[in-house]
Amino acid sequence: MKVLVAEKCGFCPGVRTAINLAKKTLENQKIVYSLGPIIHNEDVVRQLAGSGLHTVSGIGDIPEGTVLIRSHGATSAELDEIKHKGLDIVDATCVLVKRVQKIACQLHDEGYHVVIIGDKDHPEVKAVVGSAPDVEVVGTEDDLDKLSNNKKLGIICQTTQSPDFFAQMLAAVVRRGFSEMKVINTLCRETMSRQEAAVKLCRQVDVMFVLGGLHSANTRKLAELCKKHNPQTFHLQNWQELDKRVLLGKTTAGVTAGASTPDAVINAFVQNLQAFDSD
Ligand code: SF4
Repeated sequence: MKVLVAEKCGFCPGVRTAINLAKKTLENQKIVYSLGPIIHNEDVVRQLAGSGLHTVSGIGDIPEGTVLIRSHGATSAELDEIKHKGLDIVDATCVLVKRVQKIACQLHDEGYHVVIIGDKDHPEVKAVVGSAPDVEVVGTEDDLDKLSNNKKLGIICQTTQSPDFFAQMLAAVVRRGFSEMKVINTLCRETMSRQEAAVKLCRQVDVMFVLGGLHSANTRKLAELCKKHNPQTFHLQNWQELDKRVLLGKTTAGVTAGASTPDAVINAFVQNLQAFDSD
């Protein structure tokens, strides 16, 4: 099988930094907790758990030690609670996510009603909501009904959304006649270049594979985009999950991966695919 790999895919700088910080912290500290999975990749989480990283869902589960804040960030209330409990903090929040949190606060201070376009259940969005007062999450055009027309809107976006979705939502805001809006583009360039490379590649191949955690927002978005341009797109976590029947009769396969997918997973998948005889 001929295999083409997307020009840009796999670990982004934010995820790389978070993993390196986790490893360094585990070398130097005895008790280390991560508030939520450090990244949305089960293999990496399992590996770090083997080195002693405890993943918990709430601060109540942390009796002592050091708390690692993952790349998605944490709310101000969570950070206060951690400090109040006398726990140490190692902050691995991605600088681009920190920027979104800072912009949300600035827009609020300037008198705007802050609106973040994104998924209300995603940890990054939750952290932004919890970092500034009165942030409204808008995930669909219907959600715009919640907003009062006489408000000045300060609009930002979850870093991993696609430019097309951001533009579509902005158009919907304009159509609804809001008189004043200030828009700050908070999309992540790393995510955008992965999306562009994936779309370019999936148009050239018979079958497209998007590798990454099923909970990873940026991987899911990549898969969604590829599926639009190539219906033969499959979102998998690794080679073991592949139903080999989808390869039958295909000669060229494309591979891309989300920002939290390790190189080892991508390389193993590509090697197995190259060795596969689809006749
Ligand atoms: S995808 Fe972008 S915003 Fe998210 S962690 Fe990576 S670099 Fe940061």
